[in-house]
Formats: sequence, structure tokens, C-alpha cells
Amino acid sequence: MSNLGTVEKAYHESVMTHFENKTNATFSERIEALIHEFLSTDRITSELNNDELNKIFSQVSIPEEGLEESDYLQGMTEHVIGHTINTGSPYFIGHMTTLLPSFMRPISKLIATMNQNVVKVETSKSLTFYEKQALAMLHKAVYNQNDDYYKTVLSDHSSPLGLITSGGTLANIAALQCARNHSLAPFADIEQEGFFAALNKAGFTQSVVIGSSLAHYSIEKSMGLLGLGKQNLLSIPVDKNQKIDLMALRETLVNCANQRIHVSAIVGVAGSTECGSFDPLSEMADLAEEFGVYFHVDAAWGGPLVFSDQHRNLLSGVERADSVTIDGHKQLYLPMGIGIVLFKNHETGRLITNEANYIIRAASPDLGRMGVEGSRPANVCYLQAALCLIGKKGYAHLLDNSIKTAHQMASDIQSSLDFELLNEPQANIFLYRFIPEAYRGLTQYSVDDNQEIDRYNIQLQELQLSRGATFVSRTLFKIDSEQSVVGLRVVIANPLTTVMHCRAVLEDQRNIVRSLESSQA
Ligand SMILES: *Cc1c(COP(=O)(O)O)cnc(C)c1O
Repeated sequence: MSNLGTVEKAYHESVMTHFENKTNATFSERIEALIHEFLSTDRITSELNNDELNKIFSQVSIPEEGLEESDYLQGMTEHVIGHTINTGSPYFIGHMTTLLPSFMRPISKLIATMNQNVVKVETSKSLTFYEKQALAMLHKAVYNQNDDYYKTVLSDHSSPLGLITSGGTLANIAALQCARNHSLAPFADIEQEGFFAALNKAGFTQSVVIGSSLAHYSIEKSMGLLGLGKQNLLSIPVDKNQKIDLMALRETLVNCANQRIHVSAIVGVAGSTECGSFDPLSEMADLAEEFGVYFHVDAAWGGPLVFSDQHRNLLSGVERADSVTIDGHKQLYLPMGIGIVLFKNHETGRLITNEANYIIRAASPDLGRMGVEGSRPANVCYLQAALCLIGKKGYAHLLDNSIKTAHQMASDIQSSLDFELLNEPQANIFLYRFIPEAYRGLTQYSVDDNQEIDRYNIQLQELQLSRGATFVSRTLFKIDSEQSVVGLRVVIANPLTTVMHCRAVLEDQRNIVRSLESSQA
């Protein structure tokens, strides 16, 4: 460094402070203070709107020289943190993102400090095996094979019991990739030759995936990505309980067989995103078996119910699925960015392996051999922490409680005059709507009535978010084969949300409606 000028030298020193082995105490303390402040309110958000935020963040030059830490932190405090969404508030009951266990915060520090890359053993060592173990634990919770099975599979590195991904979407993509490859494997190596060639060799001209109209949009997205084609997702109507219509499913399978249309997979949803319904998985598994089709269950939301003696019946049949998606960042209470796919048969995962000489060696335990993702963080530490510290009974308790709270809120709504329950909660998600005074007590609504009621509910939901005290989300809900109406969507997952908070949310909505009506009067 002797040949550096004084200015360069000073700059060198200032940059290098960021890489010193000791943590900057002041910086850490100020971050701790920000965390404390973030956690100290129940409010959902500030009143700044999107246009105002857009303006604040319109400066696009990267600083030439690093800012003083205090200036950087000041900007974060002023412009960012106070205008985020308080997903951990007990009054935030409209989305699947919620409060995390407090131990996740120090664990995240540990993960960032170790900066492991679980793509391969050479950059993660113990964590590769820690991840395999965590996947086996979840596999056992869903598929309940015997201990010898797990011992054998864990020591055979050629086939995975599942993958940890960055979310449910990536998990569903991996599952459908397996499904696509699975049935055409006797005819061609799809990954090598492509889907079109494989389909041709097998003597088909079309291939479809079949799911209910409530399948998550990531299924459709996967179809596009995997070359299966979005238009080849056959959408089966749901019955009055929002479960896939089994007669229609059978009919579609028969039609496909008669017309020599290849079926890549049947997809069941266990906890639909829109309204929380659970498909009849056992009956779907029967049909999949009868027609020899791959069966995937998207249990991104409802998967953790395997831990609950009281509600596991909603998942009955899941153990017969060829693959199951479970989101870590939903009801496993892990930080954002963690999905999981499990394969009933470990051989299934072999259908999506990749190798590269310099990095991912064949027959190595490297996790990066499977799936589309490359470098990945050691998110398994969050998963292991939660499984170890919360345990099966802890999860059962959390889930049973939120389901109970959802049912209580639904029954409050049902017995009220101003709100209408749109669907009974099967677990902890349901829809309802506000009914303006002029429409109360009617047994049926015309299309015009529904449009007017929709308008009310949209306004109500938007104003509720901008006021920032409480929150539910909204969606469109099919009430019959022709009509959809706006539904207010409740998702109960925060362990701190009690029926009192739910009542406060409804009360807040009543107040908002009153203010809307008086401003329009
Ligand atoms: C959330 C969800 C997904 C997608 O998961 P991401 O983690 O958002 O990628 C897929 N299916 C269902 C049923 C979901 O609830």
C-alpha cells in the first residue's frame, strides 16, 4: 500500500473497516434500536401512499464514496422502515405473511455471518447433511416411512427426499418438472431431448395437467416455464365447499384417455390461497392410481397440519401423493424465502438432477445437483431451529389455535347483520363481505345488487389499508357458475391474534363505512 497517495490511503482504510473482524458496535446498536421500534407498534403502516413513496425513491445515482453509517441509517429510518407493512401485527389478518418466532432474528445473524452456500459440500460441509436431515424429518412427518428407509436413503446421495427452495412457486415448479419427466421417462430423456421429442416418441400430440379452478397461479406459471403450456392446465370446477368436483375430474381423465391426451399430473390443493379450501386428497389419489397419473399436492399453506391430531384429517391422502409442496415461510413460521418440496419416492428427485464437473460432481452429496436453483443460503438453519424449538406439539398448538380463532370470527360474522360470510372456514382462511344497509335481509341479490355491494367492499378495503390500523385482503369469489363477487379475505396465522383482535378489525370496518357514508351524504 506504500505507493498509494494520502487520499487513496484514507479511502482504502475507510473501505477496509467494513471488512474488519469485529462488528461495529454503534452500527449494531442502532439496528437493534430500529428493530425495537419496528416491533413496538401494532399499527399496520404509515399513511404515505405509493405515489409519495415512488417520489422518495427516484434518485438513481450510486454514491461515489460510501456514506457515513449514520447518514445511511438516518435514510433507512426516515424513508424505509416506518413505511413498511407490519406483517406481525395481530390486526394484520389478511395475508399469509405473519409474525415470526423471536429466535429467527439471532439465527438470521448467524446465517449471514457464516455465509455458507449449500449448493455444494465444499462451501457448506455440515449444513449439507443438516439440510438432508431436515428434509427427512419433514418427509417422515408426511409419509411416515420406517427408520431403516431413512437410514438407507440418507446414505445414498444419488436421490433426494426433497428440496429446500426459495418458495412455494419454486417447489411447485420442481414437482411439475418431476411429473413431466416421470411418465415420459421410459421413452426419452426429456431434460436432454426436450419435451416435444419425448411426447412424440411416446406417441402423444398433447399433454395436460389437471387441477381445480382454485389451483395457485404458480401451477400455471410452471406450465409456461416447463414448456407444458399454460393452456394445457385443465381447470376443473369446484363444488359448493370449494373442493374439486370429483365427477368432473373423472370425466376429464376418461376423456383424455379416449382422445390419447397425455396427462402429466393431477394437482390437488391443500389450503387454497383464495379461500382456504382443501381438496379431497384420498379420492384424488384413487383416481391418480386408477389412471396411472402422477399426483402432486400443493400444500404450501396447509402442509403443517400434519402436526395437528385435531385437523390432520384435512390432509388425509397426502401420504399417497408423489410429491408435496409445503411453504416454510407460511405456517412453519420461517422467514420469507423458504419453500419445500418432498418426494414420496426418493427416485423421483433423480429425474431433475444436473451435474457439472467443476462444481457438482456425480454421486457427491452436493445438494446443488437437484433442482433449478444454484447458490443457496443455509436457510435450513431456520427450519431446523423451528422444528427443534417448537416441536410437533408446538406446531399443533399454534395451528389448532388459529383455526379456532378463524371459526370464532366466522361465527361472529354469521350472526351479525351487516356482514355476510361467503364461505365457511375449513381451517383458518375464509371470505366475507360487508352488506350495505339497503341490501340487508334480502335472500337473493341481483347482478346489479352484487356490483353495488362489490363497490362498497373495494372502497372499504382500500380505505382500511390506507388508514393503517387493521387489515384484511380482498379477492374475487365465485358464488355460482356465472357470478363472482368481491370477498374480504381473512387469514388467521399470527399466534397473538385473538378473537378480540378480530372483533376490533370488524369494528374498524364499521367505522370506516360510517365515515364513507357520511362523506358521501
Ligand atoms: C403461497 C402459495 C404458493 C406459492 O408460494 P410462494 O412461496 O409465494 O412462491 C403456491 N401454492 C399455494 C397453495 C400457496 O398458498
